[in-house]
Amino acid sequence: MAIEGLQQAREEFEAVLAAAGSDAARIEEVRVRFAGRRSGLLRDLEDHLKTLPRDEKPAYGKALNELKRLVEERLAAAAEAASKAAAGERLDVTLPGRRPPVGSLHPVTLVRREIEEIFLRMGYSVADGPEVEDDWHNFEALNMPPDHPARDAQDTFYIPGGWLLRTHTSPVQIHTMEGQQPPIRVIIPGRVYRRDSDLRHSPMFHQVEGLVVDEGITFGHLKATLEAFVHVLFDPSLEVRFRPSFFPFTEPSAEVDITCVLCLGKGCGMCSGSGWIEILGSGMVDPRVFRACGVDPARYTGFAFGCGLDRVAVLKYRLPDLRMLFGGDERFLRQLGLGVKA
Ligand SMILES: [Zn+2]
Repeated sequence: MAIEGLQQAREEFEAVLAAAGSDAARIEEVRVRFAGRRSGLLRDLEDHLKTLPRDEKPAYGKALNELKRLVEERLAAAAEAASKAAAGERLDVTLPGRRPPVGSLHPVTLVRREIEEIFLRMGYSVADGPEVEDDWHNFEALNMPPDHPARDAQDTFYIPGGWLLRTHTSPVQIHTMEGQQPPIRVIIPGRVYRRDSDLRHSPMFHQVEGLVVDEGITFGHLKATLEAFVHVLFDPSLEVRFRPSFFPFTEPSAEVDITCVLCLGKGCGMCSGSGWIEILGSGMVDPRVFRACGVDPARYTGFAFGCGLDRVAVLKYRLPDLRMLFGGDERFLRQLGLGVKA
């Protein structure tokens, strides 16, 4: 027996493996019989190699190695096919299917869409603008010349070449008025940037801003619009109050408070015991802003308002820390019940 013996062994192996089919126990028997370490046929053939005359060894050794590789590969393939077949047998087709995890929209996106919808129903359109701005649109046209103290409060990220990351969505008001004559009714949501980070601030946050310009627009329109807005957004029973304030781009200006949504006015940690929560900044558009954009202040008046989308999300979803919104932790979304399922 020499090389022919190997050929015989191979034929025998293929025959018994085919006969074993996908029966795991029988495949194991085949493995022990051919590739078993102590008494397998391959082991016997190896022993036989040692007894051969020196000149026959290389050819026989090569053929034996090929046979070993073939046996290993076929056995592995047969074992895998057997385990797949077994898994198939266990499949109970009457069980309900496994649903893949479903994602959800981010709370800020949900709040943005809700606010957009409220204003779309009031006849506004949604406007968008660049996040990288020039000084004119972010400051100067909004009545903040280079030496204006209000610029200091904005902690701007400057970019070489005279650019900056917009510190508010207000530059889109300027773009809108530069590109379109009144009547204007727009809502402007978007990301804004300031060098600021603590429990209540993130260096990137979201604002939504509104602008209305037409003949005969008064503070009464502003008041009625914002009251309607917060009543739809939160609850019709909330009280709304306007406090005189100052913004460079509006005159007169007012900050808008609502009854604290958490304690309903009794006083709690969220409202620092006051029972009120500040929610919006607003005012009548300053005539200087109109002139900077080529809108005639003798003919037109208008109002503008803005609020932090993140703050609205914090209030609506009762979040203890604004930074949770940007942490990217899926457990947080799951806990809010917004649709992420494990
Ligand atoms: Zn409160």
